Amino acid sequence: MGCFSQRLKALPPYLFVELDRLKAEAVAQGVDVIDLGIGDPDLPTPPHIVEAAIEALKKPENHHYPSSVGMLAFREAAASWLKKRFGLNVDPQKEIVTLIGSKEGIAHFPLAFIDPGDIVLVPTPAYPVYHIGTLFAQGQTYFMPLYEKNGFLPDLEALPPEILKKAKILWLNYPNNPTSAVADLDFFKQVVAFAQKHQLIVAHDAAYTELYFEDFIPPSILQVEGAQEVAIEFHSLSKTYCMTGWRIGFAVGNQHLIEGLTKVKNNVDSGVFQAVQEAGIAALSGDQACVENFRQTFKGRRDVVIEGLKKLGFDLHPPLATFYVWAKVPEGYTSADFSAKLLKEAGIVVTPGHGFGDPGEGYFRIALTVDQKRLEEAISRIADLKL
Ligand SMILES: *Cc1c(COP(=O)(O)O)cnc(C)c1O
Repeated sequence: MGCFSQRLKALPPYLFVELDRLKAEAVAQGVDVIDLGIGDPDLPTPPHIVEAAIEALKKPENHHYPSSVGMLAFREAAASWLKKRFGLNVDPQKEIVTLIGSKEGIAHFPLAFIDPGDIVLVPTPAYPVYHIGTLFAQGQTYFMPLYEKNGFLPDLEALPPEILKKAKILWLNYPNNPTSAVADLDFFKQVVAFAQKHQLIVAHDAAYTELYFEDFIPPSILQVEGAQEVAIEFHSLSKTYCMTGWRIGFAVGNQHLIEGLTKVKNNVDSGVFQAVQEAGIAALSGDQACVENFRQTFKGRRDVVIEGLKKLGFDLHPPLATFYVWAKVPEGYTSADFSAKLLKEAGIVVTPGHGFGDPGEGYFRIALTVDQKRLEEAISRIADLKL
């Protein structure tokens, strides 16, 4: 039988295997497990979006191959949403491509611009796909550590000149998974100037721009003057509208970058089911009150966790955005020890910080994807632990 390819062999070990095994074991033993591990909202997709899909499902014209770039009507809805939300003026024909969830676009993008040996600048800790997409394109990842002392922003000036010479793409993700940090327009301005100086493509993963809780409204990097020359931004309907299972998102930005990604997609996929695109249109063009409701729900959950853990002496800050709480493990524990203890002694699944990259060591991530009652239960179980 065929051996796995070098590119599969080069994949980092799946750090969550041991945790998944322990979780399955606990469930089998009848433990009432509270799963705060996965970043998948528990709330249903709003009814008006589901209804739009049901109607769209009945139309025979939606039963055929879609185009891989997406229906123009969906891209127009995305353009209008970008205009309303960020004040952007983008051409839906040339500056937007529909994605089968933003993960698909993020994974494929390096195939369009990376040759073997080219360097891709990837934050760490981070969503794993920036690095994996680089590996699949035979590029080389150079990791940019995100430290709390820098607000979990990369220190661009610390990047070595010899790395910058070979670097082609710079990945960013704000509001950030897993640290829940945000970036303001000033930071994005610095990034755009830096990218222009060093001839880098900026690829910004904007999956969490709509899940904010306070006065800080997360910006798009495309609001920066000149960003259209260097940047592509990946948007997702998954977190904003609780649509993770539907698989729909889009990329927007520089025409040449969109064209490259579209060429890859033309050759590997046939686009998003049109009924799902029609649901996406309903989401982006419809009443946004559902998004405000989601924000309120996650904010309530955030406050339960932050207040509860603070009382227990944990070192953490209330996140301004995302549905994650990124907290330091108590003194004397590694991320792995502490996560294992929470599971074994409290029946709680969290994600150990080092699973997202080495600088995540010493942290754990809580996903606010169960209701307040369950979160209160989790806090009271943690209170009962000997730490
Ligand atoms: C959830 C998530 C995505 C992917 O979302 P899709 O469902 O593929 O649109 C992308 N980036 C980050 C950081 C995420 O957490």
